[in-house]
Amino acid sequence: MIRIGIPRALLYYQYYPMWKTFFEELGAEVVVSPPTTQVMLASGSSRVVADTCLPVKVFLGHILALVGKCDYIFVPAIRSVESKVYNCSKFLGLPDLTRAVIPESPPILDIDIDINKGKRNLYQAIYQLGRHLTWYPLRVRRASQAAWQAHLNYHQLMSSRNLTPPQVIERISGTAEAEANSSYLISAQATIAVIGHPYLLYDEHVNHRLIHRLEQAHNRVLTPEMLSTEELQSAIARLVGRAYWTYEEEVVGAGAHYLQSGADGVIGIIAFGCGPDSVMMDVVRQQASRLKATPFMSLTLEEHTAEAGIVTRLEAFLDMIHRRKRSQVKTCV
Ligand code: SF4
Repeated sequence: MIRIGIPRALLYYQYYPMWKTFFEELGAEVVVSPPTTQVMLASGSSRVVADTCLPVKVFLGHILALVGKCDYIFVPAIRSVESKVYNCSKFLGLPDLTRAVIPESPPILDIDIDINKGKRNLYQAIYQLGRHLTWYPLRVRRASQAAWQAHLNYHQLMSSRNLTPPQVIERISGTAEAEANSSYLISAQATIAVIGHPYLLYDEHVNHRLIHRLEQAHNRVLTPEMLSTEELQSAIARLVGRAYWTYEEEVVGAGAHYLQSGADGVIGIIAFGCGPDSVMMDVVRQQASRLKATPFMSLTLEEHTAEAGIVTRLEAFLDMIHRRKRSQVKTCV
């Protein structure tokens, strides 16, 4: 059986169930790289120049972790998934970058996704990808339909049950971790929304277990995936009119929504050196200053971010929110 490696980084958290379903329907075995470690980050970092953004360094570390464990590695180049909305340039060149800096990698399976080129182009790209595993177009078509359904189910499960991508992926894999969260909801002191790209929010090594720390401190945590597409899009429309960047919903949409409803505080996570995020997070920061209703804090992550620094800022932010909530309760009484 052909083994296809999928790095647990970058777009993994958005699309893993879809990719897994597609390849398994075509008879392949999917191998996922392990959770990020310092060794993986250091190995990925050693292959690129220092000012490459942290998530790309992590991604390359995951590619290296898959070397020798699979026959191919899947690295899509996602340019656009919505008309006239564009992805960060790092995603466009990912297959070429991987080939160039990790020559020992197994062959890269890539696919160029650009919705602006039309549906016909997209179908052809999917068939070309599927041809590595079968010569039957009908089989590729069935696999892509099953994959799309898996993607819809994945997002529906997250928004309808307030689950994060790792929790849903654990459910799909048959573990019951997702149920554990309910204990935090009963005694939650505050509701904190964490916004940003999934590869920053759910990589526990990169963010120093931020979500876990918030839950341990008895806070209910909300993330962008817990909102429906309609909620995210209407929040973007209210704040900036129309999205320019792919995945802008995770930052501007979720930020705008949670600043106005559902959260006692909002934490924005960005990667050091990220151009799109610095612009998008600034829009959220300005909106927070205008509304003055919900406290907002942004955390910038980089390779050498100290855990102690994150913990200190988090404690100060939570302390302020908890005091604020207590004083609001007193005022009401
Ligand atoms: S959006 Fe920012 S963090 Fe993400 S890959 Fe692009 S530059 Fe890196």
